[in-house]
Amino acid sequence: SRINVAIDGPAGAGKSTVARKVAQQLGYVYIDTGAMYRAVAFAANRAGIPASGAARLAELMKTIEIALEPGPDGQLVRLNGEDITTGIRSREVTLQVSEIASHEAVRVKLVEMQRQLAAMKGIVMDGRDIGTTVLPNAEVKVFLIASVQVRALRRFQELSGIEAVPIEQLEKEIAERDRSDESREISPLTRAQDAVVVDSTELSIDQVVAVILDLCRT
Ligand code: C5P
Repeated sequence: SRINVAIDGPAGAGKSTVARKVAQQLGYVYIDTGAMYRAVAFAANRAGIPASGAARLAELMKTIEIALEPGPDGQLVRLNGEDITTGIRSREVTLQVSEIASHEAVRVKLVEMQRQLAAMKGIVMDGRDIGTTVLPNAEVKVFLIASVQVRALRRFQELSGIEAVPIEQLEKEIAERDRSDESREISPLTRAQDAVVVDSTELSIDQVVAVILDLCRT
């Protein structure tokens, strides 16, 4: 019978690539919750709302509609119907999303959406608080980690040809986002007690996928 798989961990550990492949293998639906927080950051940017603007963000949450749909190259993200799949990956969004995600009004609405999406099971969901808060009863929980150096290197390779950012700068930004995600008051990034830690520092994507598929079969 179908189960739910929760994959949490810090930025750049490879969660989305791995989660997408696990979902493919199992015939499950992949849900990238980071994309939902990014969509809110994108909407806030466009509305001129600063990341610290709690009251205005709460108002914004009442008016926006975020939708995830399967697209040709993975998950498509829509904001009030508009395709913002590429826009949510900008560095501007990346630098602001953690503070945006620290606001209660933002989390309450997105967590509710995420629980609804997972209600029928057969979901692989990645994020920061899936195993601890969103789906505490998920049958399989993974906490995916990797060294800051390896995570910065992977980001650097992703950005090659798009944007030239020194690797030291990426390391700093990743470490800063870790600190911010770990120190917020609501649902900080922490490992669920029953999550299995997988360290991808020296593993290939396919090796990590195999480890997780094993956990799903036992
Ligand atoms: O996964 P990704 O790096 O795209 O997530 C962007 C940001 O969204 C994270 O740094 C974190 O601040 C926030 N986030 C969150 N809870 C989740 C997923 C993402 O707070 N479940």
